[in-house]
Amino acid sequence: MSENVVIAIDGPAGAGKSTVAKGLAQLLNYVYVDTGAMYRAITFIVLRNNVEDEIDEIIKIANQADIKLRFENGVTRVFVNGEEVTENIRTPEVNGKVSDVSKIPEVREQMVKIQRKLGQNTNIIAEGRDTTTVVFPDATIKVYLTASLDERVKRRHKELVEKGMNLTFEEVKENIMQRDRIDSSREASPLIKADDAVEVDSTNMTIPDEIYKILEMIEKATGRKLKQSL
Ligand code: C5P
Repeated sequence: MSENVVIAIDGPAGAGKSTVAKGLAQLLNYVYVDTGAMYRAITFIVLRNNVEDEIDEIIKIANQADIKLRFENGVTRVFVNGEEVTENIRTPEVNGKVSDVSKIPEVREQMVKIQRKLGQNTNIIAEGRDTTTVVFPDATIKVYLTASLDERVKRRHKELVEKGMNLTFEEVKENIMQRDRIDSSREASPLIKADDAVEVDSTNMTIPDEIYKILEMIEKATGRKLKQSL
């Protein structure tokens, strides 16, 4: 295994993967890799080119895409072939299509290649479905972050309301349950907990608690003292 640290965080929708991963990346000055943003970026280009029904074209787009992620001030800026698409990838259209695009095995293979490259020479924290099992089999640490369904709905609902979105608890619950169903049945890569992933149930934890716990895991796995230097 190389010297650099790769932290892979997996887990169901709403458990707080991205919040925790972003927090850790900022604390440790690691590169944060939002794998969902990569799939969204491809999906956006696919929709813009009107080729959502043409698998060959989608695969071509994925193969040609030079994706760059730049995490700045808590936001992942996304670039495809030099063009910034940060704002374009968080839309209902992309949301509605991303799951279909991410199911295509060739698209996944390409995204996996790009992610592996990112993890070769730099300390990274990668977050997203299937990171642990498929993308980084040799990750320094694999965390499977879970929380009860009610807790996940509560967290996601709060987050969306704070962003000014007017959704009921029930609507958010339906959305999370639907994502759980997709994750458990996806042909290409169902969300699976790798055998060597450590499950962290965050139902009764605060975000700082979760970050602290994962920091401890990193210290143990690498023998590096991190907490003192923060
Ligand atoms: O994390 P985010 O919600 O932005 O991910 C959007 C979608 O991209 C997921 O619902 C899933 O379909 C796909 N995805 C994936 N594998 C990943 C990350 C995201 O299939 N590693």
